[in-house]
Formats: sequence, C-alpha cells, structure tokens
Amino acid sequence: MSDIKAPKGTRDIFAPEIHKWQYLESAIRAYYGKYLYQEIRTPVFEHSELFSRGIGSETEVVQKEMYTFKDKAGRSLTLRPENTASVVRAAIENNLFETLAPLRFYYIGPMFRYDKPQKGRYRQFQQFGIEVFADDSPQVDAEVIFAAVDFLKKLGIEQVQLELNSVGCPNCRPAYLQLLRRAAQAEAHRLCDDCRRKIDGNPLRIFDCKQHACSEISRGFPVIGDHLCSECADHFAAVREALSWMNVPFLLNPRLVRGLDYYTKTAFEVTSGQLGAQNALLGGGRYDSLIRELGGPDTAAIGFAAGMERIILHLEHLEASRPRILFVACGDPQWLAHAMQLAQVLREEGYPVHLDYQGRNLKKQFKKADRIAAAFTLVLAEDEIRSGTVSVKDMASQEQVKIPLKELNAWLKKNY
Ligand SMILES: [Zn+2]
Ligand SMILES: [Zn+2]
Repeated sequence: MSDIKAPKGTRDIFAPEIHKWQYLESAIRAYYGKYLYQEIRTPVFEHSELFSRGIGSETEVVQKEMYTFKDKAGRSLTLRPENTASVVRAAIENNLFETLAPLRFYYIGPMFRYDKPQKGRYRQFQQFGIEVFADDSPQVDAEVIFAAVDFLKKLGIEQVQLELNSVGCPNCRPAYLQLLRRAAQAEAHRLCDDCRRKIDGNPLRIFDCKQHACSEISRGFPVIGDHLCSECADHFAAVREALSWMNVPFLLNPRLVRGLDYYTKTAFEVTSGQLGAQNALLGGGRYDSLIRELGGPDTAAIGFAAGMERIILHLEHLEASRPRILFVACGDPQWLAHAMQLAQVLREEGYPVHLDYQGRNLKKQFKKADRIAAAFTLVLAEDEIRSGTVSVKDMASQEQVKIPLKELNAWLKKNY
C-alpha cells in the first residue's frame, strides 16, 4: 500500500492545520447566520448537463476542467466544479421558491476542477459561498459585497481590495459583444492562439488572458461600462451608492469579467495583497437569468464563491483555536481507576482530557503531556490519593500547586 499516494492536486488535512479549517467553518456559520443565510448541502456530483447549461458550454471550466464520467448505467455525471448551478437546481427541484423565505443560502464543501495544481490551488478544493434568490434590488448587491469584504477583514486578513464592474444584461451585452468581436478581429494576428479561439465564443474572456501582449492589446478594446443599457447603468450607479453608505471602498475595473457565463450586471472580485502579489480570495456577482434558464421561475439572483485554501493561507497569523488540553498523569497503575474517573468528571465539565494507559513512569508521562501540548498536567500519585488532592502543573510556567480534589473545578475555572 505504501506506494499509493493521494491523486495529484488533492491533499490530506490534519492537525494542526485542521484547526484553522474548523475555525473558518464556524466563523462562516456564525457570520452569515446574522444575515439569515441557511446552509444548503447538495451532492458532489450532478448530471453533466447541469453545468454545461448552467455555467456555459463555451467556458474554460466546462470545456477543459470538469471531471466527467459515465456511471454503470451510462449516465454522464460530473463532479461539481462550482456550487451555484447545484444550489439553483436544488431550489427548483425542491420548490424552495414557494416554501422557503428568505431565499438565502450558504454552502461549504469540496469542488473539483482539472486544473494545473499550484500553491493554494488544488483539483479538489474547498469553497464556501452565499446565494440570494428573488431579490433584484441594487442594495442587496451592496449587502452581499459588504458581507464578503467585511467577513475577510474580521478574519484579520489585511490589504483587502474590492474590484467592481457591471457586465451588462441580455439587452445590452450582445451589441457590445459584437463591438468587442470586431475590435478583437482587427487585432487577431497579434493575439495568442487561446484568445483567437475566444473571439467567436466568448470574447470577454480575452480580458482574462495572462499573456502580457494580449493584455496590452485588450487595453485598447471597448469596455462594457460604456455600452450598458439604462437599466444596467442605473442599477450599477445604485450599487455604488449603497456601497458608499456601507463605507466599502472599491476600485472600478472595467475589464473585470467572471469566468462563468451566467453573470449579469454586478460583478466583483476581492483580493488581498497580504502575501505579496494580489491574490483573488473570492468572486461573484449577479446572475439574473440562470434560474429561468435552468427551468425555474424568472427571478433574480446574486452570490459569491470564496476559495478556502487561499483564505487559510492568509490565516497564518491566527493562533489556531486549539483547545487547551488537560493531561491526567497517574503515579502508579493501581490508581488508574481514580485517574479514569477524574478524567471523565473533567470531560463532563467540558475540558478536553487525555491520559496514558501504558503504565509508564511519571517522567515519561510528563514527556507525553509535553508532546500533546497539554496546558496542565494533573498528577495523581500516592501522596495525592492519600490526602484527597491533585497536583496541577502549569506546563508553560512549570509551576505546580497541590489542590484538594473538591476545589479542582473552581481552580480550573479561574486558571484554565
Ligand atoms: Zn443591460
Ligand atoms: Zn491571450
């Protein structure tokens, strides 16, 4: 078995890093609960069609990055590359539009993309995100964006920067895309092969190209902001105004496009410069036609998805919220009954407790207490047993006190 490794682009997570994940997950639940988001858990695989119809068959994700397979009955299934399409599917299928209010969801879970693995990017990666359905007001855009930026700041992440754009709607985007195609066509000979292919399919993606030459050229292309219909322009102005009410600074980026086709109107990305170059931590926007396109009511929606591996990288400064352990050391195996009973009483009180059953001497038990980073070691040896006491050693300061057993609880309440 020893030559079997985790597949490329996947990883195991365990202590101490796992404490950061647990911390982040409970922070998400607590924070977004205040906005009445409720958790939704959807399957990790779906019918492939959901993603080709939902995300867009022309996108990079659908064309190159999906884990698609046939099951034994010949169905085409896909490991979810993102969660929004699934949440929409679930809401339609379970009639949540009629039964659940407010229609606000958050999710936490693994997504899968066949992508080039690099630091903070994996083929199985963890995202959390929020979705608001059936609300088309620009103020809800501002609230969602505020809750994205504010959450990252509350985690202690520094140099958080918000980039904002409007990507238009089915009324104004087609005419703009024609303009963009024409501009790109004229420069096609200078664009990279990848970008040339995007001209007919989705020319917006040219703005995403990492090739220096392409981004230089695309700087001269028309931007959607100059070609919004009045509805989109008004909406975008109202979003920016509401962001100013909430004191959220932003950078207008007229070339910000999102990787998935379903976005309309507001699009945003949040990055942090804390680890050097600006790293995208989350992105999202409005997707007012997706619910209808997937067979649901004609109703608006907005949300974002955040890459949790990237966020975890930014939590290095956080003291992992590890519980403080109590170690019960037993001076002689004949007092193991006392030790086990004391450990149980302490667990009932809510303390994490460990003890050693191997009959090792006290010196070795202290070593073990050190290895598991115990905060206190509670010693039960002959003297303590006879006098109904326990010796408590503070593992950091190395100070030791002897306390009557019946005062232990009160002592811990004060010193733990
Ligand atoms: Zn429009
Ligand atoms: Zn290019």
